[in-house]
Amino acid sequence: TGPSTPAVMPTIYERTTAAAIAHGAINLGQGFPDTEGPDWLLELAARAITEPETGPRNQYAPGMGLGELREAISAAAARRQQVTLDPESQVMVTTGATEGISASILAFARPGSEVLTFEPHYDSYGACVALAGARLVGVALRGPEFRPDLDAFEAAITERTSMILLNTPHNPTGTVFSTEELTRIVELARKHDLRIMCDEVYEHLVLSDARLAHRSILSIPGAEEVAVAVGSAGKSFSVTGWKIGWITGGAELVSQIRGVKQFLSFSSGPAFQWAVAQGLEDDRGFFAQNTAELEAGRGLLRDGLQELGLAPNRAEAGYFVVGNVSGVTSLSAAAFCRVLAEEVGVAAIPVSALTIQHLAAPTDELEHLVRFAFCKDHATIREGLRRMREHL
Ligand code: PMP
Ligand code: GLN
Repeated sequence: TGPSTPAVMPTIYERTTAAAIAHGAINLGQGFPDTEGPDWLLELAARAITEPETGPRNQYAPGMGLGELREAISAAAARRQQVTLDPESQVMVTTGATEGISASILAFARPGSEVLTFEPHYDSYGACVALAGARLVGVALRGPEFRPDLDAFEAAITERTSMILLNTPHNPTGTVFSTEELTRIVELARKHDLRIMCDEVYEHLVLSDARLAHRSILSIPGAEEVAVAVGSAGKSFSVTGWKIGWITGGAELVSQIRGVKQFLSFSSGPAFQWAVAQGLEDDRGFFAQNTAELEAGRGLLRDGLQELGLAPNRAEAGYFVVGNVSGVTSLSAAAFCRVLAEEVGVAAIPVSALTIQHLAAPTDELEHLVRFAFCKDHATIREGLRRMREHL
């Protein structure tokens, strides 16, 4: 099979936001904070554009990214994950994590091969695997807390498998993979000569009562030869519109991904890169403050969903909580979400839209799951819950 074009339909996120606007619904669908990023970071970016005292910041940046930012990413990896990365060869800035994901997939998913991931999965994985002319194969995260079943994962590896796509902390479940789980996956990749792209965009958003600390795939011995990690300044600093991300990993792998990236965007906005470099060097307490705020939002949303009978999961990291609607309706999650947006005035996302099965028949469990975003201000979450209480 040759490369194929993904559906031209707007993504589930864009459709959900459009439906929210059309119906005046509270948007607990698309995952973006409804605050701006920290003032000091915004001021740094503004200064980099209009008073670029440290050098020009409005023309093309180097393809690999600004030296200042690559140094800051490398220093943060050493500090937070005890991972040593040469900023020159093992760190590349991308236009959002989205580009890091697509460039990695286009670099490593051989046409006609299979790419293995856990379900549900972030929607761009399936689209990019299709663009690469490969086929995505999914293994469901299991049980009320969505843990990976590694025996099933291993059993899904075939001689056609070329690549593994991981996401920890995970969207939409908040699952943080353990060191043992990551170690086993790295061993499988080495044994079967597979490449790993590990999407770590929520690395700075692990909430304080999480059972497991986030470990980067690159902290696992032997990972460097087979794996790259993807990060996002948009998620880390609540500036999702800036579209600054990065990939890190072994120099050979990074170089292959660079070969793809240079023909996708060539380079990424230097003023934003410069500001993000300062932020990673010194976050001025932002990460702690942000996770505390997210935790409060999650508490509010979980309690409300619990009361409504939607049995929310723990949601240990990230922006989302997953509820199960089977106790309150016989509708599928997709149909429930339509009613919720149009009649109740709350937009949310059916988890079935984040699976391979949304093209065919969803599995029983996934069919009832709905993702709600808690990265919203408390008044918004309260109003969303009030509307649901009124109708459900
Ligand atoms: N991966 C996951 C799991 C996400 O939830 C998102 C959405 N932020 C992205 C990647 C894309 O990140 P960015 O906005 O930096 O492109
Ligand atoms: N990552 C965000 C989410 O999961 C949305 C990003 C997008 O709209 N592409 O909701």
